[in-house]
Amino acid sequence: MTDLILHDALPAARRRLGEALAAAGRADADAHLLAVSKTKPAAAIRQAWGLGQRDFGENYLQEALDKQAELADLTDIVWHFIGPLQSNKTRAVAEHFAWVHSLDREKIARRLNDQRPATLGPLNVCLQVNISEEASKSGVTLAALPALAEAVLALPALRLRGLMAIPAPAEGLAAQRRPYARLREALEALRERFPEAPLDTLSMGMSNDLEAAILEGATLVRLGTAIFGERSTTANQ
Ligand SMILES: *Cc1c(COP(=O)(O)O)cnc(C)c1O
Repeated sequence: MTDLILHDALPAARRRLGEALAAAGRADADAHLLAVSKTKPAAAIRQAWGLGQRDFGENYLQEALDKQAELADLTDIVWHFIGPLQSNKTRAVAEHFAWVHSLDREKIARRLNDQRPATLGPLNVCLQVNISEEASKSGVTLAALPALAEAVLALPALRLRGLMAIPAPAEGLAAQRRPYARLREALEALRERFPEAPLDTLSMGMSNDLEAAILEGATLVRLGTAIFGERSTTANQ
């Protein structure tokens, strides 16, 4: 059942990304898919891998570690941690992931830097920005972003690749584009301020607003539902 769904859904998601890039006048290689596999079984990830998908995003640490253990034979998978990150999780994240998209505090950055095994090379990080300025949401404010970026750039075991955001839900293309335009402008400002930094990533766009994110320059779109189907709210949490 899920096999069949994925067989259609993953190629459909790729076509959708390709069409969005073309509509934005951008090249095919300008953005790629991060398959968000939270709450989905290891078998679904293996299936997506069989269809050529390599980048996978997980939100819940223990669930991710369990699936990584089951999929240890797929040595070229690239694991991205995209969930809330507290101090007690940094060691496992530093040891078991290639990317972190949800970094929003200097204290967490220092721990990841100190705990990253030298054999793995630098950990790729995106700073999560609270782009809709929601009081309850995680993410650094735009005002505090340059100072956090400067602190992270000084940490040798981290490689600052760009910015990530999860905007407040909005209806319609124009409203969906606005927060993503702010994130793009924030990245452009950081590039000007830190010209030596490897800032090449805008992690933005999900199943319901991929087109808006691509129009504003997303380089990595994080699709869950569009690839794996709806998540049951109670599964695996
Ligand atoms: C769950 C999640 C996604 C995927 O959301 P969909 O709407 O299912 O595509 C993307 N990014 C983050 C940070 C998530 O937690």
